[in-house]
Amino acid sequence: MALLKLESISLTYPGDECPAVANLSLSIDQGEFLAVVGPSGCGKSSTIGLLAGLTAATSGRITLQDRPILAPGPDRAVVFQDYSLFPWMTALDNISFALRESGRSKGKPAEEKAKKLLELVGLSSYSHKYPGELSGGMRQRVAIARAFALDAPVYLLDEPFGAVDAKNRVSLQDLLLKLWTGDGNKKTVFLVTHDIDEALYLADRIAVFTPGPGRVVKTVEVPFPRPRRRFFLVKDPRYIELRNEILSLLQQEILEELQQVEGGAGI
Ligand code: ADP
Ligand code: MG
Repeated sequence: MALLKLESISLTYPGDECPAVANLSLSIDQGEFLAVVGPSGCGKSSTIGLLAGLTAATSGRITLQDRPILAPGPDRAVVFQDYSLFPWMTALDNISFALRESGRSKGKPAEEKAKKLLELVGLSSYSHKYPGELSGGMRQRVAIARAFALDAPVYLLDEPFGAVDAKNRVSLQDLLLKLWTGDGNKKTVFLVTHDIDEALYLADRIAVFTPGPGRVVKTVEVPFPRPRRRFFLVKDPRYIELRNEILSLLQQEILEELQQVEGGAGI
């Protein structure tokens, strides 16, 4: 059953001429892990903003369980591309604050839970550091831990592992899978990534956004059974085929765009 639905969504930011998102329709099932790939500027982050309820669409309809999304809510945890931590709070306080604010836990239990989450993302010994004292990758891990702390049914993740080094990225991906399946009650994930392999490892389905105004060119089912094993996955001929299919979708769009520009310039 579709949980999140975008119906003919367009978004033009005030003062802009071109839409950031144009006529986008996409639905995501309850418990589905959807990855979105696409070149920069094609409206991926804007779509996250719309789903988060931070931005209003210029036209079209966005619903969560058939109810219009009009504002941010505790039912959606968001990790932004640029780690949005409070700079005046330590890593631990950033997380326990979120837990208290959301009403998930209070006082000491909030701090204990926050400690556990920091341990999960490998940052136990940095709990008393401020964001300014952490590397970009570490800040992002705190932001991820904070989002997971909220235990929301929907995760909206905007390139959450983009600034994380390869080793930590692998363990965070596995952590995300663990949190997604949770206690058997799967969460719904909308993950923007620029990494096709990450999308293929994690997702049930991949939406390929085209350059220019956001528009799904195609969604591709990822057929590999779970649990997936990286080592075997990347050697599977179907994996290589699917990866090439996505690459050619992206490249084809870029080529078409270039041809239009050249045509327009009279070359
Ligand atoms: P992506 O995440 O795919 O790289 P974005 O959604 O960030 O793409 O951007 C899509 C388009 O919208 C770009 O042309 C970008 O410049 C524009 N844009 C994004 N955010 C804003 C904003 N807050 N105000 C005005 N224009 C924006
Ligand atoms: Mg973006």
